[in-house]
Amino acid sequence: MTESTARESPAPETPAPATPAAELRVAVLGARGRMGSEAAQAVRRADGLRLVAELDHGDSLDALVTSDAEVVIDFTVPSVTEHNVRFAVEHGIHCVVGTTGWDDESLDRTRTLLARHPGVGVLVAPNFSIGAVLAMHFSAQAARFFESVEIVELHHPDKVDAPSGTAARTAALVGAARRAAGVEPSPDATTQDPDGARGALVDDVRVHSVRLRGLVAHQETLLGGLGEQLTIRHDSFDRISFMTGVVLGVREVGSHPGLAHGLEDYLELDL
Ligand code: NAP
Repeated sequence: MTESTARESPAPETPAPATPAAELRVAVLGARGRMGSEAAQAVRRADGLRLVAELDHGDSLDALVTSDAEVVIDFTVPSVTEHNVRFAVEHGIHCVVGTTGWDDESLDRTRTLLARHPGVGVLVAPNFSIGAVLAMHFSAQAARFFESVEIVELHHPDKVDAPSGTAARTAALVGAARRAAGVEPSPDATTQDPDGARGALVDDVRVHSVRLRGLVAHQETLLGGLGEQLTIRHDSFDRISFMTGVVLGVREVGSHPGLAHGLEDYLELDL
């Protein structure tokens, strides 16, 4: 290069090479199951996430530690999910939990555990579908305006628990909204129901469970007033409907230390 050339064209500033953001290391428990296998695929597809372990029945949880997982997704069975979460929290691993079977006692025990592990986040979500979360939200909002409310949940016949976690949570939210507004329980003149035809009573709200081949996950909140009915219905046609919420949960759980119950906490819906 001649001197004149050097003076005419000052060397362009070379942009610093982009440093790729570190990928979040994610493990899946229940990875051979229907939801777990879908979740593993969703993690593989998602930018910035790396699938580091796929565990199922019989595998040691130690693999969560040896694989250096930062977040674990649990889609297993109600009898083991709390134990899995306890193990992960004790090892500083955030948890995104879709398995049903969580009740007030298990949630309280997990809150107590998390108090000893500040910085660790656990999200327990009865439903990861954005539409289902919105349907719960709208049901709770509408609940105080109607004399009667009942919930019908409809699922595939391989589901082992009834009512669904989503229906139980919807009933709890609806019941709480009605109590807060001073609305009486739904009128019901039934005095004989030896076979339970009126369904389960959850927080003063009747919940009916349908199990039918061909279905995936569906729910209706029926709200009745004088001369009118409002139906809030949500349908999951495919398990992929849950994956937007699962991936959102995985990305967010690290910045929400403590226990979150329901994806709505991450969507800033004030339920
Ligand atoms: P699934 O197909 O039966 O899958 C469960 C998997 O977990 C099976 O592969 C099972 O293995 C495995 N497993 C059992 N014990 C285990 C253990 N100790 N460690 C690791 N894996 C273990 O059930 P699914 O349909 O995927 O549903 C899983 C859970 O998610 C259920 O509770 C369901 O209600 C819930 N769910 C939640 C949502 C949501 O949005 N939150 C949506 C749909 C379903 P084996 O079969 O060998 O026992």
